[in-house]
Amino acid sequence: MALLELKSVSHTYHSPEGETQALNDINLVVEEREFVSIVGPSGCGKSTLLSTLAGLITPSEGEVTIYGNPLSSEKDLIALMPQRDQLFEWRTVLNNVLLSPEIKKKKTPEVINYAKELLCKYGLKDFMQKRPSELSGGMRQRVALIRTLVGSPKLLLLDEPFSALDFQTRLSVCDDVSRIIDEEQKTAILVTHDIGEAISMSTKVVVLTERPARIKKIYNVDLDRSLPPLKRREQKAYNVYFRSIWKDLEVINE
Ligand code: ADP
Ligand code: MG
Repeated sequence: MALLELKSVSHTYHSPEGETQALNDINLVVEEREFVSIVGPSGCGKSTLLSTLAGLITPSEGEVTIYGNPLSSEKDLIALMPQRDQLFEWRTVLNNVLLSPEIKKKKTPEVINYAKELLCKYGLKDFMQKRPSELSGGMRQRVALIRTLVGSPKLLLLDEPFSALDFQTRLSVCDDVSRIIDEEQKTAILVTHDIGEAISMSTKVVVLTERPARIKKIYNVDLDRSLPPLKRREQKAYNVYFRSIWKDLEVINE
């Protein structure tokens, strides 16, 4: 059974200024271990879609299921990595990672060990007791990712998590994130406005139309997944996907 399924999902915001339809009849199936990127013009409804998957918004129409069950009963299987890393300066790296279990009163010895294990495994052993300001931009992103992993979710939702980073850092963070998600055998949905990032990281790229977002096209990306994303950019097919998706979005922007 598919990990995630969206059936005819539409959403309209109601506010004193009026109604804004953000999603229009979205149908999507995501299998375990897929890495799905969502691209689309600014303001089209990408964050709305992700908020719907995170259970923060109940769509006006349609249905979202996890392994066939309503999303509301499976919330622990999903974790959202926000746009900014949102690390708290007054907490150590380890205590930042343990924030969510602490709030949920689930900070068991097993969870603490798992957090330490992840930090060690991904090169942060010597930084566990440091403050976030002592870390590089790339390390902060790794901490933010480990924080979303510590509750053992199945599905990670990433909303433009690299947009605050400079280009060089972003390329290496993409490699890091891709490797960690792969090694931890997670499924991921990434929202990005960067076509190259989407193609190089994903098994599938979903192109949305202008608002209200409909699915314009879905690309199954056939690049060598044994290579890190940066190397995938050197494959011939990468440029073919890039031109095609660029065109999809260009037509929309005209
Ligand atoms: P994107 O992430 O693709 O840039 P969003 O999903 O954030 O787009 O927004 C889609 C549309 O919905 C925009 O027109 C935005 O102004 C509107 N919108 C987003 N959040 C709200 C809200 N809480 N209330 C009313 N309108 C909203
Ligand atoms: Mg957004």
